[in-house]
Amino acid sequence: MYGNLELFIDGKWLGSDGRKGEDVLNPATEKPLAHLPHASKADLDAALEAAKKGLAVWRATAAYDRAKIMRKAADLMRERYDAISKIMVLEQGKVYPEARAEVITSADIIDWYAEEGRRSYGRIVPGRFKGTRQLVVQEPIGVVAAFTPWNFPVLTPARKIGGALAAGCSLILKASEETPGACVEMVRCFADAGLPPGVLNLVFGVPAEISEYLLSKDAIRKISFTGSIPVGKHLAALAAKGMKRTTMELGGHSPVVVFADADPEKTADTIAAFKYRNAGQVCISPTRFYVQEDVYPRFLKRFTEYANGIKVGDGLERGMTMGPMANSRRIDAMESFVNDAKNRGGKIQTGGKRRGNQGYFYEPTVITDIPDDSKVMTQEPFGPLAPVVTFKTFDEVVERANSLEYGLAAYAFTTSNTTAAAIGDALESGMVGVNSVMISTPETPFGGVKESGHGSEGGTEGLGAYLITKFISQA
Ligand code: NAD
Repeated sequence: MYGNLELFIDGKWLGSDGRKGEDVLNPATEKPLAHLPHASKADLDAALEAAKKGLAVWRATAAYDRAKIMRKAADLMRERYDAISKIMVLEQGKVYPEARAEVITSADIIDWYAEEGRRSYGRIVPGRFKGTRQLVVQEPIGVVAAFTPWNFPVLTPARKIGGALAAGCSLILKASEETPGACVEMVRCFADAGLPPGVLNLVFGVPAEISEYLLSKDAIRKISFTGSIPVGKHLAALAAKGMKRTTMELGGHSPVVVFADADPEKTADTIAAFKYRNAGQVCISPTRFYVQEDVYPRFLKRFTEYANGIKVGDGLERGMTMGPMANSRRIDAMESFVNDAKNRGGKIQTGGKRRGNQGYFYEPTVITDIPDDSKVMTQEPFGPLAPVVTFKTFDEVVERANSLEYGLAAYAFTTSNTTAAAIGDALESGMVGVNSVMISTPETPFGGVKESGHGSEGGTEGLGAYLITKFISQA
């Protein structure tokens, strides 16, 4: 069921063939699935040359024709969704329905960018003198280096591939070594759809070595990274040396504000389902719950019931609603968050421990009675932990919600139109869901503020991230 792992450079698939590499593990069993080859320096040089050549071909291809190839790739992703989803479950752990939704949404992202690439308009600015034309045109920025993590093995690469290809750029993608298989299969869809050689190249290796090597090269004009804040800062510093443009989609610690006029049970059902998706390993996962005192007991009861009802198990087993954590680092992190919470007087309402002794399973957890400066309230948990605390007033909760250096996503629930408008404005966050968790769609901008990063993926902004503006004054 698990596919063959290869690099893709200049339109050719390259296997182990004497290359270094590593084993990919199934987080549900801790057993190896396959061996992943690492790209050598010579492979990276070949990818750079191929991407330069690919850029020349692709930028000269009409947006109309680029769209046709991209749409064909998206159709192939839909045709092959079952196989790709199963590979994703095996290597990443999420349950099959979530993997399937990810593959289908990723195909939608590619479709949307294919269309939007045809609408990359410039403009004509009236000149000051008779006979002069002032043209503002959009051009592809050049060769892109993209780095993606293990939590969304197809969706995150799809955002970067979609934006770059629609803009006419070529790219070298370094996807996660821990979850490479589903991404390999997505890239295969592009190859089979007729993408010219060199336009999309896929490599794996030691992340720091690959990024440092690629970022030192003049040919790379843009970096798009999704991952943790420390790595994002490191890459931004490397990019600054070569004045390369960056999109940084980093971590978050998303507050959820539940006002007393919201329906506590309905809100708990909505937000709990969203919380435990992908075992909480989602950058926009709700991670700090502030509930107004009057509705706190009802909200907590329903939320805890929901957490208790989650079926934890192998993501390929029918009926499971939460799989294992993606790697052992997450288990260690959960234990550290929960120990800190307990040491500070926190109460574990449910969960709070690892389940079983094989596979990285951790129980859906609800924690109460913890101070705002506890670890789980101040550092991104990236796991199935839900700390729930109370608040009294609007101003107080806004101050507490905005008190961290994160600013990716935030959520609020209220039945008052006035409060809805006020909280949407007041939260310092790149995305705010008010009575909604629908903050990530192909056609809307996705990105953070403060230390959560800069730039957007998705929406026209996501296309703009791969374009440069050129002004031509023609007399
Ligand atoms: P990490 O910081 O070591 O790695 C995060 C990602 O960055 C991985 O995919 C890794 O391969 C890549 N990476 C690491 N160093 C790199 C480098 N020098 N150059 C290029 N890529 C590099 O941490 P981790 O243990 O994998 O994940 C832990 C934390 O990362 C989480 O707690 C979360 O904060 C963050 N994270 C965020 C997202 C997101 O969607 N924004 C996704 C995954 C992880």
